[in-house]
Amino acid sequence: MAQPTKAVAAVHSAGDTRGHSGSGLRRPRSARILGVRVDDVTNRETVDLIGHFVRTGGKHQVATVNPEFIMEATRNPEFFETLNSTSLSFPDGIGVVYASRLYGAPIRERVAGIDIVRALAGTAAAEGFTMFFLGAGPGIADRAAEILRAGHPGLRIVGTWGGSPSPSEEEDICTRINAVKPDILLVAYGAPRQDLWISRNLHRLEISVAMGVGGTFDFITGVSRRAPAWVRRSGFEWLHRLGSEPWRWRRMLALPRFAVRCVLDSLSSPSSR
Ligand code: UDP
Repeated sequence: MAQPTKAVAAVHSAGDTRGHSGSGLRRPRSARILGVRVDDVTNRETVDLIGHFVRTGGKHQVATVNPEFIMEATRNPEFFETLNSTSLSFPDGIGVVYASRLYGAPIRERVAGIDIVRALAGTAAAEGFTMFFLGAGPGIADRAAEILRAGHPGLRIVGTWGGSPSPSEEEDICTRINAVKPDILLVAYGAPRQDLWISRNLHRLEISVAMGVGGTFDFITGVSRRAPAWVRRSGFEWLHRLGSEPWRWRRMLALPRFAVRCVLDSLSSPSSR
């Protein structure tokens, strides 16, 4: 386990009374969208909180919640329970930010998982946290590790493994991870499988933080192309992804359904803070 090197400022001084136990750091405020908790954290606060989890110990699941996650959770009770039980569920979708306003619990900004992974690599290199990359296609996690190491001298990515989210492989994968005891485990099996995988296995993993990262390694390696910065800023990254990966159209039908469900739901439960 990495040693603490610096104190972290409170994320949200106006947060509610649920604290991260013994940490002195309050849990951020959150919105509840179609029953799913989404924490109101900025990019900076997300990285600080994850660093705080590593420094203070315990085991923490982190999820990157977007509208597709929430729609899946409304029909998948295990996923619903998992998202609501995390240490941190950050708003990885502009639709979540808009929806939070309908509920009178505005989330300040979108926090993209890939931006957090890049920033975490910097924090890990600076503070000596170790990382392990699980999942993605053949050779992708390895290549992503090389690229991040090149950009962050001193970064210790202590293992990568493709494997599969099949329960029959879980024991073998956990053994591999526990052999190197990383501080931070990133799991790229796509949602909801990666998040359910973490939820099932976190208790037996000797790690501090596990986070589902979806297609992040594909973006880092250039297998998938990210939208230009101006498209990201304008809130249309989802449209760019649909254009570059059109096979996603069926999954993305969740977006208009999500909008309609949120409007109706927020009318019956206007404030969720
Ligand atoms: N993936 C995997 N094994 C699986 C299913 C998915 O390694 O059984 C990987 C896939 O190669 C990709 C990542 O999971 O790198 C994310 O998949 P997807 O793009 O569907 O996730 P999203 O970003 O939409 O959550």
